[in-house]
Amino acid sequence: MSDDVKNVIIIGSGPAGLTAAIYTARANLAPLVIEGEPSSTSDQPGGQLMLTTDVENFPGFPMGIMGPELMMNFREQATRFGADIRTEKVTKVDFSARPFGVWVGDPDAPEPTYRGHSVIVSTGAQSLMLGLEAEGRLLGHGLSTCATCDGFFFREHNIAVVGGGDSAVEEASFLTKFADKVTLIHRRDSLRASKIMQDRARANPKIEFLWNHTVTDILGETKVEGIEVENVLTGEKSNLDVTGIFVAIGHRPNTDLFKGLLDMEDSGYLITGPGSATNVEGVFACGDVQDHVYRQAITAAGSGCMAAIDAERWLEAQEAH
Ligand code: NAP
Repeated sequence: MSDDVKNVIIIGSGPAGLTAAIYTARANLAPLVIEGEPSSTSDQPGGQLMLTTDVENFPGFPMGIMGPELMMNFREQATRFGADIRTEKVTKVDFSARPFGVWVGDPDAPEPTYRGHSVIVSTGAQSLMLGLEAEGRLLGHGLSTCATCDGFFFREHNIAVVGGGDSAVEEASFLTKFADKVTLIHRRDSLRASKIMQDRARANPKIEFLWNHTVTDILGETKVEGIEVENVLTGEKSNLDVTGIFVAIGHRPNTDLFKGLLDMEDSGYLITGPGSATNVEGVFACGDVQDHVYRQAITAAGSGCMAAIDAERWLEAQEAH
């Protein structure tokens, strides 16, 4: 264990965490950022933008920028001002007393790896997947979780979108700009998406609905060459001739570490407010881990700035006492 207590420990390194790092570093708080470890999901250094290609809606880049490049820029900017970024994954936290304890490696180690006067949680969220073995193989090769990111690559394809919520319907509608045909596959016979989005999708001649079906396999070794679907009412299986599949069945915040410690909604999203404060004084949260509404890189970055300012003011108030 290192003896020194950090002013602020930032857990997670997407746009929220790295913006918090830039701001706290510039406030001379020498933040420690535990950025996570490489993985094939969005639970990794850089967060969900590492799984995207062109980002065209982040202000300041009129010609767009690649998601990973944008995150490298964030990271570089944070280190330029002295943020200490470690490629490690947090395995346990102790928020019961201050300074707070943060473990990496063995969670049963008697002492925490790091101690911090304040903590900013920015562990993000990840797209839910179907749980099929083929997903690991084909993500990024015809299988995507983000139509806005990848739709462009599916010009004149036949593609499928899975899900029945606002995300699925929005993605299906968006994808008709590129694809010849979009089949929306839903496990029930009615959508949960808002009425206006449903109406728009139903009026779109390029969208077909496949009700009461689930996807049981994605075919193809190196790229998507079709999918196998099952009728949940009859158990009958059939193949669908598509070359792209977008999974839009919701997101899951990365909050397992904080269960029982931080207040969260039933869905697992952290509850914050006022500002970025959590229920534990000195622990702040920002980005997608506490936002299931906007979920944009720019809103995550904005909330990272808020968390940094909140942490800075809170630390100042502690010193004043
Ligand atoms: P959601 O509302 O939770 O919908 C998830 C959909 O995926 C549901 O239709 C669900 O089916 C289906 N599903 C879940 N697990 C599945 C599985 N394993 N296999 C097959 N289907 C599965 O998620 P969302 O669409 O991402 O929306 C999340 C929130 O963001 C919502 O509050 C939504 O309103 C909001 N949102 C708003 C907008 C907008 O207003 N522009 C856009 C996107 C999202 P069941 O219906 O059977 O449960």
